[in-house]
Amino acid sequence: MSQEDKVVHLHPKILLEAALTYAQRGFRVLPLNSIRGGVCTCGNAQCKSPGKHPLTARGALEASADEIQIKGWWAQWPNANIGLAMGDHGCVAIDVDTRNGGHLTWEAILQVNGEPPETATQRTGNGWHYLFVIDDRMMPNIKGKLGSGIDVKANGYIVAEPSIHHTGRRYAWDDGLDILQGFTPARAPIWLERLLIESGDVSNIKTNLGVMTLPVQLQEAAEALEFLDADDYEQWIQAGMALHATGMGDLAYQVWVEWAQKSSKFDHKIQRARWLSFGKNKDVGVTIKTLFARAQQEGWANPMKNKESQAEPEVTVNDLEKQILNFDAFANPFEPIEHFVDKWIPHNEVTLLAGHGGSGKSYVALSLAIHVALGRPFCGLSTTVAPVLFFSGEDGAQVVLRRFHSLCKNLMVDPKELQGKLFLLDASDIDPALHRESKTNTETKLLGALTQLVTDKKVGFVVIDNASDTYDDDEIKRAKVRMFVRSLRSRIARPGRAVLLLAHVNKVSAINGRAAGAEDYSGSTAWHNSVRSRLTLNTDPKDDSCLTIEHLKANLGPKAKTIQLRWNNGVPLEDGSFTDVGAQAAKAVMDAHRRKEDAEAKVVLVQLIKDFNNRGEQVTTSNTGGFSVWHLLNKRTGFPKTVKSSSDLMDLLAQLQAEGSIYRTVFKTKDRKLKEVFVAGSAPMPDKNEEKDEK
Ligand SMILES: [Zn+2]
Repeated sequence: MSQEDKVVHLHPKILLEAALTYAQRGFRVLPLNSIRGGVCTCGNAQCKSPGKHPLTARGALEASADEIQIKGWWAQWPNANIGLAMGDHGCVAIDVDTRNGGHLTWEAILQVNGEPPETATQRTGNGWHYLFVIDDRMMPNIKGKLGSGIDVKANGYIVAEPSIHHTGRRYAWDDGLDILQGFTPARAPIWLERLLIESGDVSNIKTNLGVMTLPVQLQEAAEALEFLDADDYEQWIQAGMALHATGMGDLAYQVWVEWAQKSSKFDHKIQRARWLSFGKNKDVGVTIKTLFARAQQEGWANPMKNKESQAEPEVTVNDLEKQILNFDAFANPFEPIEHFVDKWIPHNEVTLLAGHGGSGKSYVALSLAIHVALGRPFCGLSTTVAPVLFFSGEDGAQVVLRRFHSLCKNLMVDPKELQGKLFLLDASDIDPALHRESKTNTETKLLGALTQLVTDKKVGFVVIDNASDTYDDDEIKRAKVRMFVRSLRSRIARPGRAVLLLAHVNKVSAINGRAAGAEDYSGSTAWHNSVRSRLTLNTDPKDDSCLTIEHLKANLGPKAKTIQLRWNNGVPLEDGSFTDVGAQAAKAVMDAHRRKEDAEAKVVLVQLIKDFNNRGEQVTTSNTGGFSVWHLLNKRTGFPKTVKSSSDLMDLLAQLQAEGSIYRTVFKTKDRKLKEVFVAGSAPMPDKNEEKDEK
């Protein structure tokens, strides 16, 4: 039976009855356009909101719980979809849209805050609605968005069961959480109320996290499902059981739904009821491995098979033979190893930066990150330019951003220059462990997600701040430490990337560090032995505004000379750079860059003004109010992205005027008002007669 058939066979009376039931439950309803033959009943083939916009003139304002009114509407439009008004009695809808990653945002929010109570839940065409009741007095402060892919409706309306979505699917309440069956929305927990009214970026910060990708296991499951048949009942059930057994809740359910929707038999209500029945009987025994095995029979190749599913990977003689080095093929063994920071940070490896707490490691590492992202030399050491990701497991967004901005200010870097080149990841609110004690798999899901993020963003250099937050295991056990460093190396540093891992040294041993050799911080021998390059940050005992970075170990090339930094304006800078030549040189580079951008922008601006002139339209010279030149030009295609504000624009226009590329002139409107406008080209010689006329 196809979706079309279902539409035809649904008796219109069902819609009226549902509308009346909602009204009895205290909701106001309104009639909406529906879907007929795949298009909106408004008749517009290009309708932007098919099956969702009101049939009444004033829409949600007219929503009503009056029985006679409702009967009248559905007599007039028997197939009308149902709109459920939000905002009454503090009822709000959280609208999770999976096409925009709303389910991942929601998962991230729950990881921080915990599970909310069960509440009225409705499956939509691309996700779901949760209805919650909040304190009535807060209603005016509700913001429209909870994060990427999650809208909040505190007024207006949602489309409700049994309305039909433009995909042909019906909206459906979850069984047992169904308004039509008399279930009432739960009271929102305090943390949710807070998130709903917070004006800050709390949820947006979360959306920048690595955890915002689907966990690796579910990604694989989604890929494996591509090889299975959603129309086959047995495969459908097994896939559901397998996904349910992962324990990943709604995220896993969504993977099942997205696949099952390929079948014409798909039905939200049946799908959800089935899901809730899983795990209750002991008949299961179906796990994600069952699903993978089945997909493999159908030709799926699991890329992670050896890593994820086996405690100890198989090693054959064949594998070992492949590891035997071919010394003929290696052209020049003396060719220098590539480094992101010369001598310090080699490609494909994990480098350790140790220092005691509060010594400024995070600052130094962030400064290195900025230098690599811009390809600027760091204290005389050359760098290879590459996008950089800074993973902060200890310090939260505020601290990281404050450090970032002070560094930018002192290094004379415009933060905008680092857009898309430096990613600051705040992992302090989530569990930042990348390695966890386990008999089978010590690599956490976060490591998988981080690997994916680093690949997606094409990052070259990754800073991990710091080892004690990300390594959840015994620091004394060398084998475990080595396993962690090996994970970072194979999953993140390779191929062609590098990791800088920060590690705390305990204070006493740091002072005795030199004497103690490698034994200067907790579990140090293990860490020291596991990496190929190791740096120590020390405070000069005689001058505590002075820092040194010593290169204690370098397996892959010569060690670098000890480098000296000095605290200035609260940030560690190359000694001497901030008083004279260094700062001036940096500024000169910035200025040249800026001049080049401006020159390019000016060419575009003249052309834009010329285009207006050619069309006979006017370019106002006004720089205030809603009809300013800024408002007129900045929405035009091609408007230079480097011009970021009205004052930037006015600056450039003034320069263009001085250069004779544009001029101001006064023009008379139809109603004989005088208006000053910009015209492209050089100003004509003043016409004396006209001047006389004006007087
Ligand atoms: Zn329409």
